[in-house]
Amino acid sequence: IACVEKTDPEIARVLQLELNRQRRKIEMIASENFVSEAVMAAQGSVLTNKYAEGYPGKRYYGGCEFVDMAEDLARERAKTLFGAEHVNVQPHSGAQANTAVYFAMLNPGDVVLGMNLAHGGHLTHGSPVNLSGKYFKFASYGVDEKTEQIDYDQVRKIALEAQPKLLVAGASAYPRIIDFARLGEIAREVGAKFMVDMAHIAGLVAVGLHPSPIPHADFVTTTTHKTLRGPRGGMILCREEHASAIDKAVFPGIQGGPLMHVIAAKAVAFKEALEPGFLDYQRQVLANAKLLAAELTKYDFRIVSGGTDNHLLLVDLRNKGLTGKEGEHILDEIGITVNKNSIPNDPMGPMVTSGLRIGTPAITTRGMREEAVKTIAYIIHKALSFNQDPAELAAAADLVQTLTEECPLYESI
Ligand code: PLP
Repeated sequence: IACVEKTDPEIARVLQLELNRQRRKIEMIASENFVSEAVMAAQGSVLTNKYAEGYPGKRYYGGCEFVDMAEDLARERAKTLFGAEHVNVQPHSGAQANTAVYFAMLNPGDVVLGMNLAHGGHLTHGSPVNLSGKYFKFASYGVDEKTEQIDYDQVRKIALEAQPKLLVAGASAYPRIIDFARLGEIAREVGAKFMVDMAHIAGLVAVGLHPSPIPHADFVTTTTHKTLRGPRGGMILCREEHASAIDKAVFPGIQGGPLMHVIAAKAVAFKEALEPGFLDYQRQVLANAKLLAAELTKYDFRIVSGGTDNHLLLVDLRNKGLTGKEGEHILDEIGITVNKNSIPNDPMGPMVTSGLRIGTPAITTRGMREEAVKTIAYIIHKALSFNQDPAELAAAADLVQTLTEECPLYESI
């Protein structure tokens, strides 16, 4: 920040304000995390200066010998981490990774089957406002009305009817284990290729706390910045037979020069994920999410599907007389950052919603454990159940301050 300050005080101010916000608030957006200072340093390095269209050893530019080393390290580490045959670490984001698979495997107008956005799927899995929904004919599956979990028999039925060329699994707001083996069987039965977007759960998959999609899927896409705790970016893992098609789809198919500084930061994050401490971290992420669901249930919050098996939970606010939008706002005011989220069969639209999505990856990175999680549940209860009472809101904000001071963030910045 001091370095930016000399050149651009306005942006230095933004950086400082954002650092303060991250330090002062409790970050519970399920798709966010805090990267290590090593990841940040790699991302803010001289590698940002380098053009490197192509792949290691086959570039369209000179002077790539050192960025090649970074990309090779990222690829090898990712292969080890996930047991994949081939990896492409160049996608700029999760959306780019998904688009590259579509570009490699589909023709415009092809039928694809993905999870309904309103039931937890992602925009890039066929939303009509996304390229995926505009260029391909997406059919969708959702969760069962009663269990609020994926109904695999229903997926099979829809797949048999729709005859998709590609079956897409993975979600942005699904708190349960996804049965990739079962979905893989369904894909094979209908003659479809199988793609898993494991963006949210990649960190859990890396350490074996969520069953891996790798043995079952033709393509696995992910972001690198959620539970995996790397820089913002995307990645594709696939079988060797698809390696060349995927590489060509990423470059020159949908992207130009790769972001070599981000690829170096991905390599650093993968190294961190290969260390034993990463398993402990992910165990705590899960323990924190389970405990939070249990504690909120005690305070009479309804947790969608009755709980969680992963790093996030969905809270139905209807019995509290609040919309997701209101809940998000109230919590933000007292210092807890979450996002409003549709719950299955939500009567409200996506800009209002009836639910909140709450995740534990970032608080766990910060060192918050069981005691802190109990306090967070208590704060959420106080703030949302007594949202008209200024004294309760002020007390909740004080507790947030105490917790964040107990778990300092980025002390050396
Ligand atoms: N896939 C899933 C399941 C996601 O949840 C997200 C982002 O939230 C993405 C893809 C897109 O990632 P990005 O925002 O990096 O494009």
